[in-house]
Amino acid sequence: VKELFQVLTVEKAREKIVQNYVFHQETESVKIAQGFGRKLAQDITVSLPVPGFNRSTVDGYAVKSADTFGASESLPALLTIVGEIPMGSKTGITLSPNEAAAIATGGMLPRNADAVVMIEYTEKIDDVTIEVSKAVAPGDNVLRKGEDFAEGDLVLSKGTRIGPFEMGLMAGTGYDTLLAERPLRVGIISTGEELVNPGEVPQIGQIRDINSYCLSGLVEQSGGNPALYGIVRDNRNELTKVLHQAVQENDLVIISGGSSIGMRDMTLEVLEEGLLFHGVAMRPGKPTLASVIDEKLVVGLPGHPASAAIAFYVLVKPLLENGCYLNTGQVIWATLSRNLASGPGREDYIRVKLASAAEGYTVATPVLGKSGLIRPLVEADGLVKIPLHKEGLSAGERVEVYLF
Ligand code: AMP
Ligand code: MG
Repeated sequence: VKELFQVLTVEKAREKIVQNYVFHQETESVKIAQGFGRKLAQDITVSLPVPGFNRSTVDGYAVKSADTFGASESLPALLTIVGEIPMGSKTGITLSPNEAAAIATGGMLPRNADAVVMIEYTEKIDDVTIEVSKAVAPGDNVLRKGEDFAEGDLVLSKGTRIGPFEMGLMAGTGYDTLLAERPLRVGIISTGEELVNPGEVPQIGQIRDINSYCLSGLVEQSGGNPALYGIVRDNRNELTKVLHQAVQENDLVIISGGSSIGMRDMTLEVLEEGLLFHGVAMRPGKPTLASVIDEKLVVGLPGHPASAAIAFYVLVKPLLENGCYLNTGQVIWATLSRNLASGPGREDYIRVKLASAAEGYTVATPVLGKSGLIRPLVEADGLVKIPLHKEGLSAGERVEVYLF
């Protein structure tokens, strides 16, 4: 069988993509509440210790722990209450031996106190005396000053992807805005005579455009900013025109459909000038191509939804996320439920569904289905790769699952 196009390995294709992608360096200032999913463009360091004072973690009495040593229910320690710690402000109280101060959770420990006795282990004898029925050690029920972060700590480095806890951390350390990388703008074009918009009723022979929306979500999931250019007919001039506009307005452009060598496939023709490759040794996703048009990277993905999505995962997503192919996406180990065959000389990407089994094992079950279907992608939790030089995987084998 004659190869109609020269295929590259996934590794080579990624190399070409990364080499021809021009990284932008723009940053912007963002309120932390709007920071979710953004990539930090600065280091986050701590200017003041957190917490800024010794805080109680319980309701009870601040004490000098030595005064409680040996205390038990049968032999409680007797302490004198010298006052109550106010919440949210400084206390002037200093404890002398055998003294205690009433304190609420989050209150500031008075001077000389080094522990807090939970209220449950105290009994009030009269207005100024408590019995303590349990000894505490130094530091018990206390968050020490600087225990979360000390002054000068580097707590988040440049390049970190901001999640919920990073947002909380920045709030806690006093940042109310942060410097973020500008998200990559990714133009998305769907091609095909047969496509109609989701709001339209397809006539016989037509189907609704799925890829624009899958790809838009995938771009957002990767931290990018998608821009949809809609459906373009299989017409060279029309595609050229929309492509040039998309290239002007974005950092990267993705075209889905028409990436093969059929009569109506226009993508190759339009991308021919700066072509980097056409054809990747993977399945699905073989008829993927990439090109540089007006100094911007353009990737042409196959039209079948699963092929487009998987080729995006393998070739484009890591570029958006890391600026390189370190593949720091989420990966988990699972046990394969059945044998999987693969041809030599290509990477196979199998959609799998995960379920937990006995003894904490996770089982990955292949979701089989043609690439033209969208439902198997929705049912699946991730992808298992059958490497280039393997002819298959066996039931019971431990495999890595790249989570969607
Ligand atoms: P193509 O790569 O253009 O030959 O398309 C391969 C298959 O994917 C054809 O059955 C197309 O109808 C289908 N297809 C192409 N683009 C889309 C799209 N945006 N949404 C859903 N299916 C598509
Ligand atoms: Mg087509």
